[in-house]
Amino acid sequence: MQNKLRVLVTRVEYPQSVPWSWGSLFVKPRALYLHIPFCKAKCLYCDFDSRALGGCELDAAMDRYCTALASQIDTYGAAGELDEVETVYIGGGTPSLLGARLVSLVERVRGYCDPVEFTCEANPESFTLELAQALREAGVTRISLGVQTLDAGELKAIGRIHSAEQAMLAIAQVKAVGFSTSCDVMCGLPGQTLESFGRTLETLMTLRLDHISVYPLQLEEGTPLARLEEQGRIAVPDEDFQAACMDLAVEMLTGAGFERYEVASYAQPGQRCRHNIAYWTGKPYLGLGRSAAGMFDIPSAAEMCNLGTYPFYTSGANPSSALHEGRVRYRQLDDEGVQFDTEHLTPREAMAEDLMLACRMTDGIGIDLLKRAAALIPELELRAACEAAVRSGLATWDGRALVPSHLGWLEGNELFGLLWALAC
Ligand code: SF4
Repeated sequence: MQNKLRVLVTRVEYPQSVPWSWGSLFVKPRALYLHIPFCKAKCLYCDFDSRALGGCELDAAMDRYCTALASQIDTYGAAGELDEVETVYIGGGTPSLLGARLVSLVERVRGYCDPVEFTCEANPESFTLELAQALREAGVTRISLGVQTLDAGELKAIGRIHSAEQAMLAIAQVKAVGFSTSCDVMCGLPGQTLESFGRTLETLMTLRLDHISVYPLQLEEGTPLARLEEQGRIAVPDEDFQAACMDLAVEMLTGAGFERYEVASYAQPGQRCRHNIAYWTGKPYLGLGRSAAGMFDIPSAAEMCNLGTYPFYTSGANPSSALHEGRVRYRQLDDEGVQFDTEHLTPREAMAEDLMLACRMTDGIGIDLLKRAAALIPELELRAACEAAVRSGLATWDGRALVPSHLGWLEGNELFGLLWALAC
């Protein structure tokens, strides 16, 4: 990537004054993500930022972490920067492991904003009816459960610590309390067959879920599962099998009234995940907690910096006079919110990113987005990329939008590559 400024910020120095301001261009975050980096045990395939600590150590670490996170929420909330938050997502890790601490965090956030969608991730082994009721009362609207599969052998093969029965019970509790209910399911698991994958989906469909996400297993380097595979001790199905599972999911879920609105996401009418859509449509979002990511356009970030609450722009990482436009993305590196990895995208790079993200969704790249893109990317290049996508069968043009095809989703990297090439 060209013109990318990558800055590792190691200390916070709130600027006393910032010599530039865009006033009315200031856009506050529309989405808020809180990251909870704790799990009861590490799944064999997991390379996410989550710690599995024992008993007292875990309790003490969760207490410390939640105190620091609550303090960050207060800092941003008191400055009015959560005023326009429309969606909140508490993910992990395993947020449900926090128990009553999770309810307190929800109440804390609710004290500063009134989101239309408030999601908490949960895992079956740490979910109870009592917790469900407390979360509902605190203002959570949606629960996303990590089910992955309902086959006992497959659960064991990937190191999940819950059983199929626990998953079914958790779903029943979530539904009984009246949440919008989403489940994550995985395909391409060791020992999985098309029949067993179909059985998991079939059972889930009988439970009248509102939303299902289907992800292929990624063998991440350095994980226990990748090592087992390297040693020849387990066999992981290949990409063709994963593609067959994804096709079966389309067939079964759309047949049951779900709409596929993103490459991995299926929703009943009116049940699309608004928070994830915010990510895919370039809305500004704030991430708090270790490993949480956020994204803003530069004028907004600069204005927030003026307010003195956005430590990812310290005086050291300040765009000074050079970077007045484009987009800033950051990832928090520590528990307390003082270290950040910050990345700057030029306006053209940000637009190429928007085009790529739009191609994750069934709506594709609409004319409005293409018109905005044409203001930053030479029209000839834009047209050539779209034509190449259609010519190679990665997308179709329906007169109103460039829509990813079945091949485009299977060969996502090719389609994304074509669009990202427009960044420079
Ligand atoms: S529950 Fe999720 S975050 Fe925790 S170890 Fe398993 S995959 Fe990783």
